[in-house]
Amino acid sequence: MSPVYDSNNIFAKILRGEAPCTRVYEDEVALAFMDIMPRAEGHLLVIPKAPARNILDLAPAALARFMPSVQKVAIAAKAAMAADGLSIMQFNESAGGQVVFHLHFHILPRWTGVELRPPGGPIEKSGKLAANAAKIAAALKES
Ligand code: AMP
Repeated sequence: MSPVYDSNNIFAKILRGEAPCTRVYEDEVALAFMDIMPRAEGHLLVIPKAPARNILDLAPAALARFMPSVQKVAIAAKAAMAADGLSIMQFNESAGGQVVFHLHFHILPRWTGVELRPPGGPIEKSGKLAANAAKIAAALKES
């Protein structure tokens, strides 16, 4: 049997306003906020508002409505952070590297010759997260 969606996961709490986040962007189907343990400068997450554990259980029509928001945030993040490129990562189930069980896409600005930091911390200073969020939000407003 497939694992079920647990509405007490941290991203569901963020969506309900029960947990804080450094918000970057929101539309009808998506919310984007800074990753608290960034693996790159400007690392953020885009999540669907629809409850889905990962990419395996979101209805195809909902996935189709959501992906343009991922693209929109990715384009803005690359411009705002003056990145050379982007890595977009998405993990499914523990064996696939997933830790938080609400579907999310990592947007990781990349620069030539700069490696990603290892996963798992440290937690970034809130002022740094807010500064990068403001830069990316400003680029989104221009898009
Ligand atoms: P994964 O499930 O492996 O894709 O990783 C979950 C990601 O969520 C990690 O990069 C964490 O740093 C990040 N994360 C966990 N809790 C929070 C939170 N409260 N706010 C922002 N990012 C978070």
